[in-house]
Amino acid sequence: MSTPTAPPVSRIAVIGAGTMGHGIAYVAALAGCRVALHDSQPEALTEARRRIESLAAAGLQRGKITEADRAGVHQRLRYATELDDAVMDVDLVIEAVVERINTKQMLFAAVERQAPREALLATNTSSLSVGQIAAAVREPGRLIGMHFFNPVHVMRLVEIVRHGRTPQEVVDRACAIARRLGKEPIVVQDSPGFASSRLGVVLGLEAMRMLEQGVASAEDIDKALKLGLNHPMGPFELVDLVGLDTRLHILEYLHKTLGEKFRPCPLLVQYVKAGRLGRKSGHGVYDYGEEKKAPGAVRK
Ligand code: NAD
Repeated sequence: MSTPTAPPVSRIAVIGAGTMGHGIAYVAALAGCRVALHDSQPEALTEARRRIESLAAAGLQRGKITEADRAGVHQRLRYATELDDAVMDVDLVIEAVVERINTKQMLFAAVERQAPREALLATNTSSLSVGQIAAAVREPGRLIGMHFFNPVHVMRLVEIVRHGRTPQEVVDRACAIARRLGKEPIVVQDSPGFASSRLGVVLGLEAMRMLEQGVASAEDIDKALKLGLNHPMGPFELVDLVGLDTRLHILEYLHKTLGEKFRPCPLLVQYVKAGRLGRKSGHGVYDYGEEKKAPGAVRK
């Protein structure tokens, strides 16, 4: 799988500056790439800048990065309000927008018109069919899944998702890029939820059903998994980090494609409708701030 001959990637556009996009942009800039981060919402770019600055400051404080690394991140990373400006001069486009197939297809159709023809196109989808997303571009073979994990600067895995029309050289190139960004790639076939989300959401969904049934409090269910099964985070801490809306989109797709066991439970739907999206909205299963306190959320 190692590809010393794969062309180096040095210029990357990351599209979508939310939970995942800002993290991917940070890691890529830290690895020495020139990065343009784009979002259709200008306020998402402002928030991404704040989060990236805070990631770099925390990294410096903990001795994980040097002052030169931090300065390099800020030099190499730019925030682009227009898509064409972000993608016009890159080797790789990584998409990290909302988990909706139509949105991703429309975005890639636009990216294909504006990015250099040799640029690799990658989607960070957690569950959707990469082949179906790739069907929106004229050369589907150049689009592959690169599924990063949250938080991107901590989690080492990248799932490389190949679909029916992915040439081996594109798989090799994506693996080489993942390694360049300090990650460990695995190659999986294009199947709903791949190897990771399909397993991860089963646990998270069952935990939510248990909360719904009053089996135990959210804190005690989290504690059960951390202290009893040695998980680094409990299922509710994790879903608050992932985003409840993102988790719901994944479950809806897996329910449609893989069947009944993935049907989203009413409590999750209710939380999302109430705007309890997790850390990003200030409250999810837990509450993360007085000013954004949601009714019924447990203070964290
Ligand atoms: P998010 O809601 O935090 O951020 C999505 C961002 O995309 C928003 O800022 C939004 O304004 C922007 N956006 C939406 N449509 C756009 C468009 N057409 N053009 C440009 N920007 C657009 O979502 P997220 O959690 O970062 O998830 C992004 C992708 O990453 C999804 O496919 C998700 O399944 C996947 N993913 C998420 C996680 C996670 O833990 N959250 C982990 C791995 C993969």
